[in-house]
Amino acid sequence: MSSFVRIGSTILRHARYLNQRSSRCTYHTSSPLSKPDLSVAIVGSGPSGCYTAKYLILTLEQLQQKGQLTNANMDDLKNVNIDILEKLPTPFGLVRSGVAPDHPEVKNVENDFSLLFQGNHENQKQSATVTQTHTKSKTEKLIQKSIVFRGNVAVGKDISLEELQSLYDVVVLAYGCESNRKLGLEGESLDGVFSAREFVAWYNGHPEFAHMGSYFKQALGNNPSQANVVVIGQGNVALDCARILAKGSQGLMSTDIASHALEIIQDGVEKTTVLGRRGHVQGAFTIKELRELTKLQDASFIVDEAELDAGTTTASLEELNGPGSRPKIRIDKLLRKAAAKTSSEDEKSKQVRLRFLLNPVQFIPDSAVKSRLGSVLCERTRLEGELGNQVAVGTGEMEEITANMALVSIGYKGLQLPGMNDALFDEKTGVVRNTNGKVHSKSNLYASGWLKRGPSGIIGTNISDAKDTVSSIVNDLRDIAESKVDGRVGLDSLLSERNIQVIDWESYQRIDAAEKDTSRLRSDGQPREKFTNVDEMLNYK
Ligand code: FAD
Repeated sequence: MSSFVRIGSTILRHARYLNQRSSRCTYHTSSPLSKPDLSVAIVGSGPSGCYTAKYLILTLEQLQQKGQLTNANMDDLKNVNIDILEKLPTPFGLVRSGVAPDHPEVKNVENDFSLLFQGNHENQKQSATVTQTHTKSKTEKLIQKSIVFRGNVAVGKDISLEELQSLYDVVVLAYGCESNRKLGLEGESLDGVFSAREFVAWYNGHPEFAHMGSYFKQALGNNPSQANVVVIGQGNVALDCARILAKGSQGLMSTDIASHALEIIQDGVEKTTVLGRRGHVQGAFTIKELRELTKLQDASFIVDEAELDAGTTTASLEELNGPGSRPKIRIDKLLRKAAAKTSSEDEKSKQVRLRFLLNPVQFIPDSAVKSRLGSVLCERTRLEGELGNQVAVGTGEMEEITANMALVSIGYKGLQLPGMNDALFDEKTGVVRNTNGKVHSKSNLYASGWLKRGPSGIIGTNISDAKDTVSSIVNDLRDIAESKVDGRVGLDSLLSERNIQVIDWESYQRIDAAEKDTSRLRSDGQPREKFTNVDEMLNYK
């Protein structure tokens, strides 16, 4: 990379910072023949990490083809290394461990992400073709890119954030939301009260949650098919939980749900109540997930028309008629149709009930075993306030709903990485303080995805989010001096010194193949049987 044109305090500060980084780093045992011009580490291999890698490469290539990297003093940029660090041996974050097993079409995005790691050679050929057909200019050069996976490496434990910042020109934090919000209610620590996050991660075979099975089993009792479950929250995660609980093995056998989960919920649970304190117009779920609940083979979907009416305040009506309200109108119609059907209902063996205007106020212990959940006490609410800002206000009317198990589904929450400066993290919102992905510090730190903006949006939302972060990185390229950092070589030697069993892309391919091996599968259509134990996966290293 050529020298800086822009002379100013930012550059001097950055140059000083880079020098400090070079001298702080003491782990380089060998040096590569030619160092990359830009070394980027991305922490987390979920959608945001993968999209950040993809759009960083694409953006650099596009700028180069337009001759615009020269403007950023990057005309000598030839080699870009992007190393994606992941604490699990397996990649793709919540696509693997969050997305519901009966939504396999959503998981197809993994194929797209896999190309990043497989396609270094193919992509280089592709970009060579593009470059050849493009009018050649003096500044045109090929970017040699290499994107690698470094699984089973937990940043903050196996390597510190400070070490990572010393090793790389750019560090992007994309490690998602590793915790969840709590209601803060009396009885929330009773046996039988869980977060939806724990339940989802368990049925999806996340190794850190494999031990939860015994707790779910205990809560659901000897005969889970007669159990009552209350799910608190009205987003898609709550609806996913209700659907999985209602389906049982008939609807899940041919999915990638972990067998340890299917063993326990094979017959589904008898009654699942999903409740929220506001009305149906304010619900965060989408029509697809709602429609699936209305079409369950063995479970009646029940919604009360009186609750829909009570939530249809003047402000709610305005929300239904306002701009961009089409999805809400469709939800309203579907719920009203379901409510009308409810009264003349064909009774099925199981029920999923959607309740509105109910605010949980206490988890009440079981009368026989005081340490266990027995019911959820709720207060009836009414909506008050302006269009778009209606709040649920308690009416004093109480209702107790029997429950063997309660799942709190009121949102995931980001965590501060061990060793991260307190000033960089907003504990209240659970996000890294940033502007357009540039972390609020005079350093090489960026953020992307749920950790950057909070736990909202679908997988596709992380595309525009990643592009936003990439823009910030590219804007700062002017300030990134000729790469003196050790990047991948430094990382690998440090991890090797520490005996960390790194899972690279080839090792992951072996894990992937083993999970799909027919000898492991319980049915023909099952796409894979996931390993739920890290040690088992490390055998394929
Ligand atoms: P994540 O996907 O959480 O990825 C973060 C990664 O960082 C993980 O792999 C994690 O293991 C890793 N990590 C954490 N800590 C460290 C560390 N210290 N060091 C290294 N690595 C670390 N969207 C859809 O479009 N369709 C759906 O059907 C859908 N279903 C969903 C179901 C659930 C239950 C949830 C919770 C979300 C769902 N989403 C769905 C949303 C989608 O999953 C998110 O938008 C997306 O996963 C967020 O991406 P991310 O990369 O920011 O975080």
